[in-house]
Amino acid sequence: QNPVPNATCEAVMATVATGAVKHVPEGFVDFAAYQAAGGYALLQQCVSGEKDVEAVIKIMEDSGLRGLGGAGFPSGRKWRIVKAEKGPRLMAVNIDEGEPGTFKDRVYLERDPHRFLEGMLIAAWAVGIETIYIYLRDEYHGCRSMLEAELIKLRASPLMAGMPAVELRRGAGAYICGEESAMIESIEGKRGMPRLRPPYVAQVGLFGRPTLEHNFETLYWVRDILEKGGEWFASHGRNERKGLRSFSVSGRVKVPGVKLAPAGITIRELIEEFCGGMLDGQTFYAYLPGGASGGILPATMGDIPLDFDTLQPYGCFIGSAAVMVLSDKDTATDAARNMMRFFHHESCGQCTPCRVGTAKAAHLMAQPKWDLPLLADLSLVMRDASICGLGQAAPNPMDCVVKYFPHELA
Ligand code: SF4
Repeated sequence: QNPVPNATCEAVMATVATGAVKHVPEGFVDFAAYQAAGGYALLQQCVSGEKDVEAVIKIMEDSGLRGLGGAGFPSGRKWRIVKAEKGPRLMAVNIDEGEPGTFKDRVYLERDPHRFLEGMLIAAWAVGIETIYIYLRDEYHGCRSMLEAELIKLRASPLMAGMPAVELRRGAGAYICGEESAMIESIEGKRGMPRLRPPYVAQVGLFGRPTLEHNFETLYWVRDILEKGGEWFASHGRNERKGLRSFSVSGRVKVPGVKLAPAGITIRELIEEFCGGMLDGQTFYAYLPGGASGGILPATMGDIPLDFDTLQPYGCFIGSAAVMVLSDKDTATDAARNMMRFFHHESCGQCTPCRVGTAKAAHLMAQPKWDLPLLADLSLVMRDASICGLGQAAPNPMDCVVKYFPHELA
């Protein structure tokens, strides 16, 4: 792919040779293009006093925007909670997009980085942040060089006068560092292991300071919401749900990719309306609604609205909206076995239920016949006694197979 659109071949080769640009996707908006199209005007209105902090937070609350990294905490309320804490306050931005099947943050980041950076700076202004730490997944090499280059341009601009310092930190390839408190440990230079809560990071976060933690995509929507109004975002949605969701769709569909769709859409609607249907000759069999940890559901349960809270009664959740579609060429058992091996590999090892539980479960699931009573015991202990979401959610795919796909185990 052409790394520098509209450039000559020689210029492209020279740019690539410097290592400055590894990969530039089509439609990439750099600092100059973003500003020329009206970007950062909103930030300037905020900083100049044209916008009122309270009014901005109110719009965020009215929009119903929730944390799009998976936790789904209401964003406006989070701003208010951290703002109420005594300063100095810090901010940590989570771009450690490690949930299997999730790639929405990368797709937006590598095309329109300043939309996110402006949202991040507006959040920092509203909450009164002293320093911002962006934690970027180590595997996103191209994004890192691009972001470094764009941050240099941004820091050199008068826009940044009086704004907080922005530091870009590299992850080191650990899935668990996507968990907010493990990410904070990692930013502090320690091994990425989740903290026991309370205290919550909003009160005692980075370097012991109150910390506003946000996923990349949550901040990506701030500019649109403030320009178009909270009602604009809330006006989208189906099946009585509100807002937009960026689904990372993979698997046996004709057109996989990031699909911006109404919150509450069902998997059947998503496949038919946004993904061109199933691959030729394959029939829809099952789906993982929320990456590795969100469980597995059969096609017969394909009419459940996909959103925060809607899947919990079925032992599943949407998380970061990574939807994997399985066909009659797949089995849920294979998928669940694969997921448990993944959790075993990625367990930080801090607590026994998860460290030993994932290893034991992966071993038991590799046997020709599953020991169902033992797996049920393991599941209970992992859910009840693990410190963080990894160990608590690791049994989800396994439990779903037992509950919804018993014919595969017979
Ligand atoms: Fe670490 Fe797993 Fe315990 Fe989380 S649940 S703290 S990943 S061992």
